[in-house]
Amino acid sequence: MAQSTLSVIFLIFNCFLFIESVPTTLETPVRYDGAQLWNVSLSDEQTRKIVFDLENEFDVSFWRTSNAAADMFLKKSVIESARQILNENNIEYSVRVEDMQKHIERESRQPYRDGQQNYGLTWDAYYSLNDILLFLDNLVEKYPNLCSLETIGYSHENRPLKVLKISNGKSGNKAIWIDGGIHAREWISPASVTYIVNDLVENWNNQPAYIQNVNWYVLPVHNPDGYEYTRNTNRMWRKNRSKGSNSKCFGVDLNRNFGFKWGGKGVSHDSCSEIYAGSGPFSEPESTAVADFFANNTENFEAFLTFHSYGQWILYPWGYDNGIPTDDAEELDLAGREASENMKALDGQVYTVGNSADLLYPAAGASDDYGKSIGIKYSYTIELRDTGRYGFILPPEFILPTAKEAHTFVHTIARIVAK
Ligand SMILES: [Zn+2]
Repeated sequence: MAQSTLSVIFLIFNCFLFIESVPTTLETPVRYDGAQLWNVSLSDEQTRKIVFDLENEFDVSFWRTSNAAADMFLKKSVIESARQILNENNIEYSVRVEDMQKHIERESRQPYRDGQQNYGLTWDAYYSLNDILLFLDNLVEKYPNLCSLETIGYSHENRPLKVLKISNGKSGNKAIWIDGGIHAREWISPASVTYIVNDLVENWNNQPAYIQNVNWYVLPVHNPDGYEYTRNTNRMWRKNRSKGSNSKCFGVDLNRNFGFKWGGKGVSHDSCSEIYAGSGPFSEPESTAVADFFANNTENFEAFLTFHSYGQWILYPWGYDNGIPTDDAEELDLAGREASENMKALDGQVYTVGNSADLLYPAAGASDDYGKSIGIKYSYTIELRDTGRYGFILPPEFILPTAKEAHTFVHTIARIVAK
């Protein structure tokens, strides 16, 4: 009784806080007390088999794998058993994060400044969707001749997908698309994209011609339901929050749901999988909204830049299968390398450039392939920091240096596009 009364009060409270976006359910937050992030060496085939078998045996998850090592996330209950198996087989590993819950709590200290006048973000904390939308509203209010907002659709839980257009209105401008936050837990992505937006707008008069003569279209949070879910319920959530009538589990991986080569390699048709492709191409409102936007837009798009984390990669199509270069792969590679050099000059961080399927793994139905498939030349997925020290839970002090790298990437591509 008390419990349900409390729930109603919380629901009402919540409705006031999120007038534009009412979550359908309130769940108890998932805790990760004692959970750890390990980096496990993968020296040979035998080792790989033992390590990857842990996923079936113990429900550990792999955040990132390369030929040499795997970043493995373990709940507290499985740590001792996993440790025993690795020790028995002389497999080397190191503990990167000792207690994920403490780490998450440290990350999530945030200023709550909803509705303040002269609202701005500061890039020393991760902000809520509401804060990010207010930030966009504020830019439009402050710079009505430069900025405008378009709601290109609504998420499954009815949150708006807001695209900020930044344009000097000149005819003949080329166009560049930027999106962030398609994967919910990759918080550094929306944080970096808002930084880029802020710099473009606030310093507009000092921008070079290759920035000013572009119509910019920016979707900072592509997966708003997932993003809010990671803030309120489960920090490790990746997908959106839809659930098909025949699905056992919630969520579709929006970056496997785009219509180009949908359902091929590197996807799952199991709704409980992290890489569930959905019931069909563009089955989700969040991916459909982006496709509709491009279908109804006559701009001359030259770049499609989608920001993720983590791993520090600059990736270009085709990603749906191995060994399938685009006709202009050499140009994309060259531009990526130039960006990577410029990014390294900032803070010494290395971003590795290459074809996404060959460098990482094939993934059909990803948005960068879709962008390329509709004729946008410079289509990239950028995996921001880090390389596995903290993984998805990147401490706030790294927001600014990472955002500057993302910003430099965008500047480099814009300069190349203008040539
Ligand atoms: Zn991602």
